[in-house]
Amino acid sequence: MNQHIGTKCVQAGYRPNNGEPRQIPIVQSTTFRYESSEAMGKLFDLEAAGYFYTRLQNPTNDYVAAKIAALEGGTAGMLTSSGQAANFFAVFNVASAGDHVVSSASIYGGTFNLFNVTMRRMGIDFTFVQPDASEEELNAAFKPNTKAVFGETIANPALSVLDIERFAKVAHEHGVPLIVDNTFPTPINCRPFEWGCDIVTHSTTKYMDGHGAGVGGCIVDSGNFDWSAHKDKFPGLTTPDESYHGIVYTEKFGQGGAFITKCTAQLMRDFGSIQSPMNAFLLNLGLESLHLRMKRHSENGQKVAEWLEADPRVAWVNYPGLKSNRYYALAQKYLPNGSCGVVSFGVKGGRPAAEKFMANLKIAAIETHVADARSCVLHPANATHRQLSDEELAACGVGPDMIRLSLGIEDCEDLIADLDQALGGV
Ligand SMILES: *Cc1c(COP(=O)(O)O)cnc(C)c1O
Repeated sequence: MNQHIGTKCVQAGYRPNNGEPRQIPIVQSTTFRYESSEAMGKLFDLEAAGYFYTRLQNPTNDYVAAKIAALEGGTAGMLTSSGQAANFFAVFNVASAGDHVVSSASIYGGTFNLFNVTMRRMGIDFTFVQPDASEEELNAAFKPNTKAVFGETIANPALSVLDIERFAKVAHEHGVPLIVDNTFPTPINCRPFEWGCDIVTHSTTKYMDGHGAGVGGCIVDSGNFDWSAHKDKFPGLTTPDESYHGIVYTEKFGQGGAFITKCTAQLMRDFGSIQSPMNAFLLNLGLESLHLRMKRHSENGQKVAEWLEADPRVAWVNYPGLKSNRYYALAQKYLPNGSCGVVSFGVKGGRPAAEKFMANLKIAAIETHVADARSCVLHPANATHRQLSDEELAACGVGPDMIRLSLGIEDCEDLIADLDQALGGV
C-alpha cells in the first residue's frame, strides 16, 4: 500500500517486532558481537548484511535513512555527519581526479567552496551554470569527462528554483546522473525523483531536524540511473572493487543498491563522516512532524513575503512564491504546495537600516542558521559574507542591505507584528 507522505513521516523506516521498543532504539555502540570469525569475515566481504563497526553503519542511522528514502521515493539511503559530507560523498562517489561536473552556480556557499576550491584541489573540474539555464547553455557546459550534474531545488540563500526536469533531461542525454540538494523544500514540498533527478542529498540540519538540535546529512538513490548502460563512465560502480575482493557493485547490489553500497563501503569506510546514532534519533523526532512543520513554515514564508512586498519601508523582497519573482513559474511547477520559510529582503536605507532593523526584532533571533522551528535572521554582509567589499557583495548577488529571514512555526500574526515594530524603529 503506497502511503501518503505524512503517514510516512510518522511510520516509515522502523517497524518493531513483537515485544520490541516502539521508539527507534539508539544503538550507542561502536561495535557488534559475532559467534565466529567466519561470520564476521562474511560481513567484511559484503557477502552477508549486518553491522560490524559504527564508522561504516549503525542500525539507528539505517532506520532513519530508510525513512528519508521512503519520503523521497528512493531505493536506498544513508545518513552522513553533515550536509557538507552528503554533497561531497554524492559527487565523489561518481567523479574522481580528472573528471568534470556541471553545477548550478546558485548553490549554498559551503557547497560552492567545496566544489570550487577543495574538490578542484582533488583534481575534479567544475563548470557553473544558471539554475534556469536553457538546454543549449547546459549542453555547452558538458565535456567528454563530465560525470554528474548538480543543483539545489531552492538555493540557499539566493532562493532561485532549479529547473529539475530540464537539468535531468540534458544530464541523461549525456549519460550522467542529476544530483539535487533538496534541503530547502524537503520531500514534503518537492520530490525531485518525480522530475527525473537520480540522487537526492540533504542537510538534515535544517528543516528535517527542524529544532536546531543536530548537524547531519543524508543521501538517497532513486535507483533509476542505469550505471551499467554507461560502464565506461562509471568504472567505480561497474568494474571490480579490489578493496572488496573484486565485487562489482552493480552486479552484486543491483541498480537500486549499487550507489549507496559503494558510498558506504568505500567513502564512509575511508572518510568516516557518519552521523552519531544519538543525532539520528533526534533527527527522527524531527521527521515525525516534518509534514506539519513544512506546511506552517511555507505558509508563514508566503504571508510574510506578501506583507513585506506591500510595505513602503521595504526596498525589495525575494521569495519564489511571489508573482513578481523571476522563479515564480518554476516554483508553481515544482513547488505547488509551498516552497519554504526563508525570505530575503532589503530595508530602505541600506546597510545601517538593516542593522537597526535586526537589532529591533524581538522574536526572530540573530543566528547563522535557517530552517528552524524558531524564527531567525541573518545579515549576510555582516556574517557569512563579511570578508567581501560592497562591490564583491554585489557581484555574488548579496547586497549590503540584504536580510535573510527564516520564518519559524510561530503564529504569523506575531511574526508580522514584530517585523512591523522593527521597521517602525528604523
Ligand atoms: C546548510 C546547507 C548545506 C550544508 O549542510 P551542513 O549540515 O551545514 O553541513 C548544504 N546545502 C544546503 C542547501 C544547505 O542549506
